[in-house]
Amino acid sequence: MGLPWICFSAFAVCLASCLKFHGHKVIQVQLETEEHVKLIKSMDKTFNLDFWRPDSSSRIAPKMTVDFHIHANHTETILHLLKQNTVHYEVLFHDLQAGIEAQLDNSRLRKSQKHKYNKYNDWDTITDWASKMASEHSDLVRLIDIGNTYEGRPMTVLRVGQSNAEGPAIFMDCGIHAREWISPAFCQWFVRELVSGYSKNEEIKKLLTNLTFYILPVLNIDGYVYTWTEDRMWRKNRSPAEDSDCFGTDLNRNFNVSWCDIGSSDEPCTEIYCGKSAQSEEETKNVANFILSHLKSIKAYISIHAFSQMILYPYSYTYELAPNSKELGEISKGAISELSSLYKTKYVYGPSASTIYPTSGSSDDWAYSQGIQYSFTFELRDTGKRGFLLPESQIRATCKETTLAIKYIANYVLSHSS
Ligand SMILES: [Zn+2]
Repeated sequence: MGLPWICFSAFAVCLASCLKFHGHKVIQVQLETEEHVKLIKSMDKTFNLDFWRPDSSSRIAPKMTVDFHIHANHTETILHLLKQNTVHYEVLFHDLQAGIEAQLDNSRLRKSQKHKYNKYNDWDTITDWASKMASEHSDLVRLIDIGNTYEGRPMTVLRVGQSNAEGPAIFMDCGIHAREWISPAFCQWFVRELVSGYSKNEEIKKLLTNLTFYILPVLNIDGYVYTWTEDRMWRKNRSPAEDSDCFGTDLNRNFNVSWCDIGSSDEPCTEIYCGKSAQSEEETKNVANFILSHLKSIKAYISIHAFSQMILYPYSYTYELAPNSKELGEISKGAISELSSLYKTKYVYGPSASTIYPTSGSSDDWAYSQGIQYSFTFELRDTGKRGFLLPESQIRATCKETTLAIKYIANYVLSHSS
């Protein structure tokens, strides 16, 4: 798998050698006017801000709430400029390093790590977990190797369903953006819900008898490993760009649908770099090839992200409405009603372009363009307070409520697929 000395006891190594964020801040600003927008854009040029929401300064507009992370060296100047220009702001993290350390509970600062569903697991732990699921539940779980990442790590889909099930299928991926740790945590949780529910829950038994789930627990494995070993705030994959010192393509801009157009960048140093060509990246190619080879059965595509508490559906690359937009809206509404029945978590839904912001080359649009009618992107908790650093104490509730939404979609797909 490469880099074994780093992978071994990843978090302990990271404590010693990871990029540190002492004194860095995460700021939330309420933009009112065009002047405010201009100010933030010019600050981004000067100080190279790390945008948390939206994911790039190119997407900001008046009347928007914007979260970004600033380097300790620039804090004083930036806060002064915001005050001087009467931009209302709130400091979400006074010390980002403290926020990163607070995300994991203290017992995690140890050398070996045992898999836990209500904790964040590093990549080696997730790999061992996947093998164990397949060996302990061989009647329901099979591992399918779909190819390697840029750094040579095998990408493994968990096929969950009765082995003779011929019915429709749902493909779900987690962790396309490396720093959104709650996403892989959800995929692991959901696999457990399925296998443990099979023998004791009629609804799950019915789903697994008639439906197949293809679950990719971490799509961007190299990036995920990097967030554990080097830089907690990393988003893209880890392939080097040509003619640039910068690394990484945004895999959710690299799919072959309206590639490198709105909401993408051809500049390799940006967080929304679309890659050198459509599906240039090993990770996107592997996912696309797998989906294409199962296109007859895959009726729904679900991609799990964080954060914002949203269910989104095509299109991302245009404000035009998708042909079955109304139906996708109805499904999202039903899924949200299930989700919020547990803890009253507030979600919104709608077409990606108008509900969050337009992007091109995204996986949900691509799946839709291949004829997968039910294509969704989830943005899990929260709405910015902890952002990518959702504490482990919230994993359980987040995964439980999200499970209800996914089950709702699965039931819908099952009853609407012949
Ligand atoms: Zn994301």
